Amino acid sequence: MTKTYTRDYWESALSALTLEGRNFIGGDYRSAVSGETFTRIRPMDGKPGGTLARGTVADIDLAVASARAAFESGVWRKKDPLEKKKIMLKWAELIRAHGEELAMLETLDVGKPVLASLNVDVRLCADGIQFYGEMIDKMYDEIAPTGPSARALVRKVPLGVIGAITPWNYPMIIDAWKLGPSIAAGNSVVLKPAEQSSLSAIRLASLAVEAGLPAGVFNVVTGYGEEAGKPLALHMDVDMIAFTGSTEVGKLIMGYAAQSNVKRVALELGGKSPLVVFEDADLDAAASAAAWGCFYNSGETCHASTRLLVQRSVQDKLIEKIKAVTASDIALAHPFEPSAQIGALIEEAHMTKVLGMIAAGEKEGARRAFGAEQVLSETGGYYISPGVFVDMTNDMSLARQEIFGPVLAAIPFDTEEEALKLANDTIYGLAGAVFTKDMDRAHRFSEEIHAGTVWINIYDMSNFATPFGGFKQSGFGRDRSVHAIDKYCDYKTIWQQFG
Ligand code: NAD
Repeated sequence: MTKTYTRDYWESALSALTLEGRNFIGGDYRSAVSGETFTRIRPMDGKPGGTLARGTVADIDLAVASARAAFESGVWRKKDPLEKKKIMLKWAELIRAHGEELAMLETLDVGKPVLASLNVDVRLCADGIQFYGEMIDKMYDEIAPTGPSARALVRKVPLGVIGAITPWNYPMIIDAWKLGPSIAAGNSVVLKPAEQSSLSAIRLASLAVEAGLPAGVFNVVTGYGEEAGKPLALHMDVDMIAFTGSTEVGKLIMGYAAQSNVKRVALELGGKSPLVVFEDADLDAAASAAAWGCFYNSGETCHASTRLLVQRSVQDKLIEKIKAVTASDIALAHPFEPSAQIGALIEEAHMTKVLGMIAAGEKEGARRAFGAEQVLSETGGYYISPGVFVDMTNDMSLARQEIFGPVLAAIPFDTEEEALKLANDTIYGLAGAVFTKDMDRAHRFSEEIHAGTVWINIYDMSNFATPFGGFKQSGFGRDRSVHAIDKYCDYKTIWQQFG
């Protein structure tokens, strides 16, 4: 039977919840070495949330030493594959069993509707850990062709200590995208979650140990990017940084790797994805995809469809339909309300930044069709209504910058050639979509849009079997799918000569 959730249910669950904000190192909770903490402000109402350890270089050193010791001891990497699989699957089950608690932690930190946290974020986090757990006892090595007098084994071996640095928009999902393949491959991990969203990461680590993951294999250090993320990326004993975040910080991470030990980096960065609608498209389907593609998670999605390229003849009709879908389907409300489809933005400073970008866009001549205003300010939280700007050109700031708020820029075009040029006229290459009934054109577009994922007549459909990541300044390296394991391993040749 499906459980019915009410706002009162979540309010009383919250009052019973203890928020654990210490680092998790070597299987134990640890306060920051400095003893310092910081307080997270809840985006849903502006009240104080969790108190977190303010990790710095000393905490990173401890966590890396713990991860290194676990790796060198072989307590995890040398374990029987079947046993490792069982532990990962148990971990996934524990995540599901603690779903309501994890959903609450995520919502407290990031302000998204708690039912979205539960039904999307927790579910996909558990599925991610399970997906890679299931791979553990199905990975084979290779034997290279040699003459009969030799045997050359090509072994896929773990790298060692992985530093994972993650953002705040889908914390648990993105953590699982890093943790699943890196731990399944036999590595140890130090995770530095975004300072805005650490609670779920700490809980994931304690559940991992409860499932049987040996202490030190998965460590969490909370804190600010400059204070905790930077020393992790500069650390001489970290073999790789798996980073998801802004392009700006991604560039710094590459620099840190070069300045330290030439560690590997994988970067999942920003986006400004085009959704292209031709006049022959199913406009109802396109409107729904454009609205959900841009406004879900309050627009705080790296692959959000923030640029709507629409054939001029249907622009007005499509915008009316987007307005109607937004009004009827995408309810903005307090995250504990069961009706909420979208909630608050991550923090006050971010809301102010988004409102500033909107104001600057209007000064440049962007015409507001609807929305994109601060709402629910009486709650003390940080809410902006979904909104659309029309008759835009691709050189306007709202069409070029990653806003990370619920703001859609509609840009009209006349010809297919022009649409493709506009679609690719961005520094990013994360995702894109084309809506048309002409399948030849759909396939031409899917080949030519320079992006890691291109959807045809739909937006944001995926599963764990499909790789995710970008081209151009959206980064490199892929999360999800069996291929994600590759970046946490390397090949080792073992040559044996006979006779
Ligand atoms: P951000 O780059 O500000 O922060 C990401 C992480 O980096 C955080 O943990 C932060 O503390 C850390 N950090 C900040 N400065 C650092 C430094 N100097 N050294 C080391 N670490 C540092 O990004 P954000 O605001 O948390 O997230 C939003 C961004 O993430 C957007 O640009 C979005 O597109 C991107 N994103 C990309 C993907 C993807 O898969 N491509 C997914 C989600 C989010």
